[in-house]
Amino acid sequence: MSKILVIGANGQLGSELTIALREEYGADNVIASDLNIPENNTEKFEILDVLDNSRLTEIVNLYGITDIYHLAAMLSAKAEEHYQFAWDLNMKGLLNVLELAKEKNIKVYWPSSIGVFGPSTPKEATPQESYSDTNTVYGISKLAGERWCQYYFEKFNVDVRSLRYPGLIGYKTLPGGGTTDYAVDIFYKAIKGESFDCFLDKDTTLPMMYMEDAVKATIQIMQAPAESIKVRSSYNLAAMSFSPEEIYGAIKLHYPELSIAYNPDFRQAIAESWPQSIDDSQARIDWGWEHKYDLDRLVEVMLTNLEKILVTA
Ligand code: NAD
Repeated sequence: MSKILVIGANGQLGSELTIALREEYGADNVIASDLNIPENNTEKFEILDVLDNSRLTEIVNLYGITDIYHLAAMLSAKAEEHYQFAWDLNMKGLLNVLELAKEKNIKVYWPSSIGVFGPSTPKEATPQESYSDTNTVYGISKLAGERWCQYYFEKFNVDVRSLRYPGLIGYKTLPGGGTTDYAVDIFYKAIKGESFDCFLDKDTTLPMMYMEDAVKATIQIMQAPAESIKVRSSYNLAAMSFSPEEIYGAIKLHYPELSIAYNPDFRQAIAESWPQSIDDSQARIDWGWEHKYDLDRLVEVMLTNLEKILVTA
């Protein structure tokens, strides 16, 4: 019987993943945790700062945790502004989880990112194994994290699994300070009838994924038999790629009044250091990954759901 702890459960990914895990494993078997309890929370929830090792151990012991989904991190754009703390949080949090996993034989999920790649990485169909000269603190922390995951697997047999997510897009929670956040904001502006000020340039193509696909991939890789997980650093994962101009064009078909202005800021340089598309064939071969959402389906599902939320708000 799995007893799951989600760390960073209030975030953009965690809030949706926790719901899906509760549907899959039963609400009583999934303990959400974060720095604060969300308003109106009725499910099992613990306040946890992942940097507090004794509290982490206490919660793991209290519930007899068998699986940890460790999502807490500082994202790419925010990390550039708080680079020392971002390194501490992104590294120490992971090492606390891996060390406890080693002691207590816990299975671990930890997300990496396309941010591990850098300016000299091939931009198109970036291979699973690729040169990386990442030049962001976020990318450096994710790349180091991948090496630590592989290390704990090889040295200590910790069953740790990981995906390199592209930019994640969902309607349930606002994003937390990444370089692809614009692709969520633009939907709010369209529905509210406001003009959109884009912090990336119009032709900046990046790999993206609808949240439902990301959640599906996460649960799928954790449920796959151990012998099918051939990559113990982190798997490339992909669904679609588009530029601001392309998503603007797709939304404009539904909201012809939407206008856009391009004012690239410091996030442009981060975006330009990342791949434009990802070769995720190894995930597809090893454990059967398949995405469902392309740009048109993404636009449709985002607009349909956000319209309901924003119109009744
Ligand atoms: P988010 O910023 O929305 O959520 C992170 C959560 O972690 C927040 O609820 C925050 O309160 C919590 N947290 C922060 N510090 C903590 C601490 N010390 N202890 C416990 N909790 C803490 O991030 P997200 O978008 O949900 O991302 C989740 C994971 O997925 C991260 O590891 C991120 O790097 C990775 N990822 C996200 C994306 C994306 O587009 N969202 C893309 C690639 C990878």
